[in-house]
Amino acid sequence: MELVLATRNKGKIREIRDALHVPGLLIRTYEDFGEWPEVEETGETLEENALLKANMLCGGLGMPALADDSGLMVDALDGRPGARSSRYAGPEGDPERNMDRLLEELEGVPPELRTARFVCVLALVTPEGESFLTRGECEGRILERRRGGGGFGYDPVFLPEGFERSMAELDVEEKNSISHRGRAMAAMRELMETA
Ligand code: IMP
Repeated sequence: MELVLATRNKGKIREIRDALHVPGLLIRTYEDFGEWPEVEETGETLEENALLKANMLCGGLGMPALADDSGLMVDALDGRPGARSSRYAGPEGDPERNMDRLLEELEGVPPELRTARFVCVLALVTPEGESFLTRGECEGRILERRRGGGGFGYDPVFLPEGFERSMAELDVEEKNSISHRGRAMAAMRELMETA
């Protein structure tokens, strides 16, 4: 079976590849195709956007497509940046500027009020018209400054619950074992194995 990942985000691709060990499954990415349908994320929710991306890619390439839509929900900011996490500080989607903005907005907020969670929704759409959705969450809190150089996005400023290290200080397997994406992937793998 072949599956295409509906993302250009190298961090997501690395984690999904690492988590998706299904015998006989060939994982394709944008690097395997000359033409790549770009999708505007116009949905209001992670579910809508994940389905939008998976449907567009499945339709455009004629093969099963797996899309990830994810974000960081910070309680002290009423759930922001949420579905807009990748472009929080501007349309260019610069992770460093996004983290700067987040840290500025949380300046002076004490550790116990810096609670947050990463949320990931995965959508798998097949050319036969089936679609599957799974969701995973990872609780934690926002640090006062960056720590670590691994992962991607907001990982350096996220301290997962029960850990002394930031998400960017975990290796890919450790991150997948506790992360929102790892949990959503585990649920998706189960669905794929039983479907
Ligand atoms: P999407 O491409 O619209 O799904 O945007 C997801 C954005 O959420 C990313 O660009 C990151 O800013 C943030 N994000 C999602 N998952 C993670 C993660 O595992 N670590 C750090 N940031 C993440």
